[in-house]
Amino acid sequence: MDLEQQKIPQATAKRLPLYYRFIKNLSMSGKQRVSSAELSEAVKVDSATIRRDFSYFGALGKKGYGYNVNYLLSFFRKTLDQDEVIKVALIGVGNLGTAFLNYNFMKNNNTKIVAAFDIDENKVGTDIGGVPVYHLDRLEELLESDIKVAILTVPATFAQSIADRLASKGIQGILNFTPARITIPEHIRIHHIDLAVELQTLVYFLKHYSN
Ligand code: ATP
Repeated sequence: MDLEQQKIPQATAKRLPLYYRFIKNLSMSGKQRVSSAELSEAVKVDSATIRRDFSYFGALGKKGYGYNVNYLLSFFRKTLDQDEVIKVALIGVGNLGTAFLNYNFMKNNNTKIVAAFDIDENKVGTDIGGVPVYHLDRLEELLESDIKVAILTVPATFAQSIADRLASKGIQGILNFTPARITIPEHIRIHHIDLAVELQTLVYFLKHYSN
């Protein structure tokens, strides 16, 4: 099932992996159905939002019954293409990049970092978490056509030029962990995750909005 065809709002689409993980656990523990209240408690999304989200999936909960876990599971599998392993490249094997290489994304979803790139000769040629580290000079040569996603964990000043190179090789999505605001052709999807800003925002909210 294609999210574009289904016209699922982007905010809903972003919650899909969260729902999927929880539903998978429920199914593994043998549960057949789940109420929106239970889901809400587990994934920390209010139940009205859950009901609205699930109506986009064609999953209409019944009062006193809830949602059918198997139906939801097969919907999420199809929608998130979980049968196919999505190959990912990582650029910048510093502290954060190394942590990602050691962290096994495969545990929670079917994405796998298959190649890493850096310019530091001490890192090039090593293997971290089972992922080979190549010199950035070899990016164009080694970026296989089936690598559609890249994670950027380089110093901010290099982010734009590397993103340009990734774009020219047909990358479809970039997860940008640098604070740099990257300009990229519109057909490429870019998600910015600035951990320092996230932490600062959390602290701000704690200071100003906690009870
Ligand atoms: P982090 O921000 O991940 O904690 P760090 O503090 O260990 O990283 P940074 O200086 O941010 O180090 O660099 C991150 C990684 O990016 C390093 O391994 C560095 O060698 C690498 N790097 C620096 N410049 C480039 C570049 N132009 N292309 C690819 N990798 C680069």
